[in-house]
Amino acid sequence: MTNVFLGIGGNLGDRRATMRRAVAEIRAVVEDVRVSSLYETAAWGVTDQPSFLNAVVRGRTELKALELLEAMQAIENQLGRVRTQHWGPRAIDIDILLYGSDVIDVPRLKVPHPYMAQRGFVLRPLADLAAGLTLPDGSLVGELLTTIDQDDLRQVEGLGWAD
Ligand code: AMP
Repeated sequence: MTNVFLGIGGNLGDRRATMRRAVAEIRAVVEDVRVSSLYETAAWGVTDQPSFLNAVVRGRTELKALELLEAMQAIENQLGRVRTQHWGPRAIDIDILLYGSDVIDVPRLKVPHPYMAQRGFVLRPLADLAAGLTLPDGSLVGELLTTIDQDDLRQVEGLGWAD
């Protein structure tokens, strides 16, 4: 069994319903699931698009990393079809943030997720679940969180929103 952390986010359709469904689908392939609080991040750049909801899911799985990636992409595809009328942005994005303490660098999969240490919408929910976690490069989640801007980040639901 490998401990994994997944980042989930979306900005299309009924965002909360889609996030809840994503967690429910993740529970089918990942055991002992725990879910962070739910956060909202203002869309940057093009500001007339809906803001994003983000959360982090922690669990344990027997799946190998690439099998986990395929399982998460199947969930993205399944939920992405629900309310999205056009091809393009997906209703849900699921990233593998951490797979145990493995460092993976193959074309389809980079773990730890390359930008996670700079993104408040990843670090803040990750810290809800594992502030004391050390990343493979030795950095501590709780310390990384103090180095980044969290102004655009707002907690919209506490723990338990996905139960
Ligand atoms: P995106 O559209 O930004 O979700 O990117 C999806 C692509 O990123 C897929 O083709 C994946 O193979 C690739 N990818 C690389 N590393 C990761 C990761 N840690 N988690 C999820 N997808 C990844």
